[in-house]
Amino acid sequence: MRLRNIPGSREVIAENHWCIAETEDCKGKWRDIFGNDQPIHIEIGMGKGKFIMALAKQNPQINYVGIEKYSSVLLRGLQKMEEEPLENIRFVRMDAENICEMFDRNEVSRIYLNFSDPWPKDRHAKRRLTSRQFLLLYQKILSSSGLLEFKTDNIGLFDFSLEEVRESSWILQSFTRDLHHDENMNRGNIMTEYEEKFSAKGNPICKLVASLPDNVK
Ligand code: SAM
Repeated sequence: MRLRNIPGSREVIAENHWCIAETEDCKGKWRDIFGNDQPIHIEIGMGKGKFIMALAKQNPQINYVGIEKYSSVLLRGLQKMEEEPLENIRFVRMDAENICEMFDRNEVSRIYLNFSDPWPKDRHAKRRLTSRQFLLLYQKILSSSGLLEFKTDNIGLFDFSLEEVRESSWILQSFTRDLHHDENMNRGNIMTEYEEKFSAKGNPICKLVASLPDNVK
């Protein structure tokens, strides 16, 4: 998702209560930021934040961090937050490749990736957020009982992601190629903005859930 650049969006973000600057020293300090020791769940590539904000509203006992690369997109999320403030959510404008500078080892209990950019060219495979290179980064910040959840309507990206999970040290817990017709996996599902758009077109939604084996922690 890339919106027209909004002049001043970086400045608005820098001054916003819900936004943490990429340069801030947050690693290992998220408990202080939130002022409690609730588990931390993150969404990488949150877009305008519909999904993570719905989760935060539904689960006040969990702290959420939404990560988005582009300030113009993130700004839309912040505008929604002004209308309905939630104290268990923060946003960071950053590239996921720097995720280990934001979170300490085991600091995160769940990672959500929703409708990540597919990067269809083979030579760009490393940029896919489910590539083995990114899985290695997530492995560092995710706790031993943590989960990675990924949804997409893009079959090519989904097949690639299944392969990357199987080829790495992750354990594939469950997957479906038709989430909305899978009673178990769809229970409690919150639709993202892209999920609503693509399922309205008739595209089946794929989902996988993966975890880490004890011996990699
Ligand atoms: N998750 C939302 C949804 O499902 O509606 C948005 C999906 S949109 C296709 C993908 C989002 O991921 C975009 O907003 C994009 O800017 C963001 N993104 C892509 N690569 C990223 C990266 N390396 N780090 C952080 N965000 C990224």
